[in-house]
Amino acid sequence: MIVVIGAGVAGLACARALARRGDVVCVLDRHDRPGAEMSTHNSGVIHAGLYYPAGSLKARLCVDGRERLYAFCKTARVPHVRCGKLVVAQTGEEAALDRVATLAAAAGARVTPVDRAFVAAREPNVRADHALWSPDTGWLEVEAYLGALEADLVNADGIVLYGTPVEAIEPAPDGLVVVTPRERIEAEVVVNAAGLWADEVSAMAGGEPFTIYPCRGEYAELATSARDLVRGLVYPVPHPQGHSLGVHFTKTLDGAVWIGPTVHFQDDKNDYERDRLPIEAFVEPVQALLPAARKSDLRLGGSGIRAKLHPASERFADFRIGRDARNPHLIQVAGIESPGLTASLAIGEMVAGIVAGE
Ligand SMILES: Cc1cc2nc3c(=O)[nH]c(=O)nc-3n(C[C@H](O)[C@H](O)[C@H](O)COP(=O)(O)OP(=O)(O)OC[C@H]3O[C@@H](n4cnc5c(N)ncnc54)[C@H](O)[C@@H]3O)c2cc1C
Repeated sequence: MIVVIGAGVAGLACARALARRGDVVCVLDRHDRPGAEMSTHNSGVIHAGLYYPAGSLKARLCVDGRERLYAFCKTARVPHVRCGKLVVAQTGEEAALDRVATLAAAAGARVTPVDRAFVAAREPNVRADHALWSPDTGWLEVEAYLGALEADLVNADGIVLYGTPVEAIEPAPDGLVVVTPRERIEAEVVVNAAGLWADEVSAMAGGEPFTIYPCRGEYAELATSARDLVRGLVYPVPHPQGHSLGVHFTKTLDGAVWIGPTVHFQDDKNDYERDRLPIEAFVEPVQALLPAARKSDLRLGGSGIRAKLHPASERFADFRIGRDARNPHLIQVAGIESPGLTASLAIGEMVAGIVAGE
């Protein structure tokens, strides 16, 4: 038996890949539905793989996962669109735009420099002196994706137990015993896909110590009357010293325009609402890209909390995926922040390969 802790996109994709190879798999999650934490508090963007250091797991699994995800969405009828995106720069930001093009090329992600006329034809309201066009970026309905992953898992005889918090993990002669309020489950392998809580689950299992740093991202939205100002996905160039891709616009399939997410490191892994930014905080970054937008066009949106493997003082940490060095019965799938949704199916295949000893 393989126990996967966490029914977010990473845990479900690992369980699905394992079950399809014939392993007996059980997924445990404390919530009563799939993806209640990071996996339903994100932008839903299928990233092309423009931003991640060459050779990193983020770069490789994003590019691999993105094509797997488009194919899966098509087969499983998950609403999605390969709509492309613009990365726009103003005068003085040319070097930052070149850096994105270089990273993208190294990762194998297509981008094309485009001129003002190209931008104006797609996004007449967006201010851009220079831009890159990424044709392989897209968007999906994440709730439908979670449902399709779970259905595939159950079709392959996998089990999912919701409302099941893992309270302890004990050593056993040939593996581990996973303890919940109702059951003691013997497992040869435990996959730690616990998202924001992966550090605590690793400690329970006697695995390697590491720390998850929660980092909140907040969204605003364009009011319904202002939605037509933006037609697709529009990103600024990421600031070289920044923690995120910058406040950007995401157009959803039902026409909403999300603005964000912002970046704020915090101590609490459960706090989505306290001290939310006021709408005024979004006005300047929005107008930098969309001069016609007014404060009255903005509404506060949702928020999410990223599971980062580095503190605010550092800029980058890769996904932590692999067999634990202290406890070989434990497989870590930790630090799965963006582009984890995009990479999820590739993460699943990688973990299934590790379990199989490939
Ligand atoms: C603001 C934001 C925007 C993002 N935008 C994008 C994007 O546009 N594109 C993209 O590719 N990625 C994006 N991401 C990243 C993406 O959302 C994550 O990489 C992905 O959802 C991680 O999935 P997961 O399964 O690792 O974690 P989660 O979905 O958080 O799942 C972990 C699960 O483990 C469970 N769990 C934890 N501890 C226990 C326990 N002790 N017992 C039982 N269950 C437990 C939790 O209940 C939870 O359901 C974004 C993330 C954020 C926060």
